[in-house]
Amino acid sequence: MLIRWRRWPRIRRRIPAVVWAALHRLQSNGYQAYLVGGAPRDLLLGRTPQDWDLATDARPEQVKAVFPRTVALGEKFGTVVVLLDDTQLEVTTFRREGEYSDGRRPDWVAFTPSVQDDLARRDFTINAIALDPLGEKLIDPYNGVGALRRRLVQAVGEPRRRFREDPLRMLRFYRFQAILGFRGAAGTEQGIEAEAIRKVSGERLRDELTKILLAPAPARGLEGLARSGLLTVMIPAFKPVLAEDPALFRHLVATVEAVKPGAELRWAAFLHDLGKTTTRRVDARGRVRYYGHEEVSLELAASLLERFRFSNAARQKIMTLVRWHMFAADPMLTDAALRRLVGKVGREHIFDLLELRRADLVASGGPTDRARESLTLFARRIQALLAGETVLTRKDLAINGHEVMAFLPLPPGPEVGAVLDEIFQWVTEDPSRNRKDRILSYLEKNRSRFLQL
Ligand code: ATP
Ligand code: MG
Repeated sequence: MLIRWRRWPRIRRRIPAVVWAALHRLQSNGYQAYLVGGAPRDLLLGRTPQDWDLATDARPEQVKAVFPRTVALGEKFGTVVVLLDDTQLEVTTFRREGEYSDGRRPDWVAFTPSVQDDLARRDFTINAIALDPLGEKLIDPYNGVGALRRRLVQAVGEPRRRFREDPLRMLRFYRFQAILGFRGAAGTEQGIEAEAIRKVSGERLRDELTKILLAPAPARGLEGLARSGLLTVMIPAFKPVLAEDPALFRHLVATVEAVKPGAELRWAAFLHDLGKTTTRRVDARGRVRYYGHEEVSLELAASLLERFRFSNAARQKIMTLVRWHMFAADPMLTDAALRRLVGKVGREHIFDLLELRRADLVASGGPTDRARESLTLFARRIQALLAGETVLTRKDLAINGHEVMAFLPLPPGPEVGAVLDEIFQWVTEDPSRNRKDRILSYLEKNRSRFLQL
């Protein structure tokens, strides 16, 4: 199919010279060469693609003969990474795929000279378009262009079968809705069998979900995951939320949408109130309270992050944000209380915690002017505090456990930790106390009490 000629110049302008050169080199060696996957989709939407995947009828060894610098990565599956002018391009031989009997990889792949065959194995019609900007040819057997116009994510072929082949496609279905702001075709959604998502590893779930959380329209993705049942299969802690408290789910989604797009911030926003369903109580005056819900949220988050194999750093950050999201953002707090907060949260996370609070307020109907103002004041005070001094955690104390034991003296044991805790409290009241001589005289003065601990 040829698209209207007047669109070509606009499409061509967005294609970098290296991509152009690679397509040209394959074609002048007698091979077919197309842009496929995300690139034609984004070009037709008037966006600039992130990466450039080329498809060709040339076999991997023929691709390597055409380009002097290559890296063999997925060669078994027909992909050669071509290095041209410091740019990496993936060049993949047209292929057909066998059954996915393990639900992960095709049992076999076979090379094919037909670009149509190659498009048939692709997941959604908007991703099954091949574009040849040199020959100004568009191969679009499934009317992906029509789906782009209608802003619709629709499976290539029979949805149930395609999702059974590779259950990860169920998440990709919602991911593209969230990234592009498209709707999902009803018939495609009906093909989803949520239980099958169990076959997908934690890492891959994590990566897809993170992409959905970071997308421009996360609500489309997250609401779809909830509606289809995928969410509760992947994260059972959402089951009581969806069953008993739909408003809470809306709040979590709204917090995700309101918070800045950082992976850990978005995860924390999505999980921060998970503990509310089990801590809900009505107090003596008839008000609903959720005492301690942040600690239940923390536990639920911790096991999820473990299962999804998050890095230690990401896990720590998400857990810290969830654990302390109820902090008192009172600009009248004493310096000591502020320091204790920063000490618990860590200076590297404190401003993200404030950002989470801002988003939480936005998602709860928008902060009042007063709340907004006090958050700004609060942030300013923390900035001043961090600029001014360094004593914030027990590690920063001018004395360590060994020195405490030697001085008092005390045998190793929990008492040493208790003494250090007290020193820490004392130092946070006035950071100028954080000198070894002053701490030792404090120990001296309280020696008898400490020895009775
Ligand atoms: P992105 O902008 O996220 O890179 P993309 O469409 O390029 O989007 P990729 O994951 O890079 O997505 O995949 C490239 C192409 O390969 C897709 O457009 C699609 O045609 C095909 N594809 C990728 N994963 C699958 C899958 N699991 N099943 C079928 N086709 C797939
Ligand atoms: Mg891509």
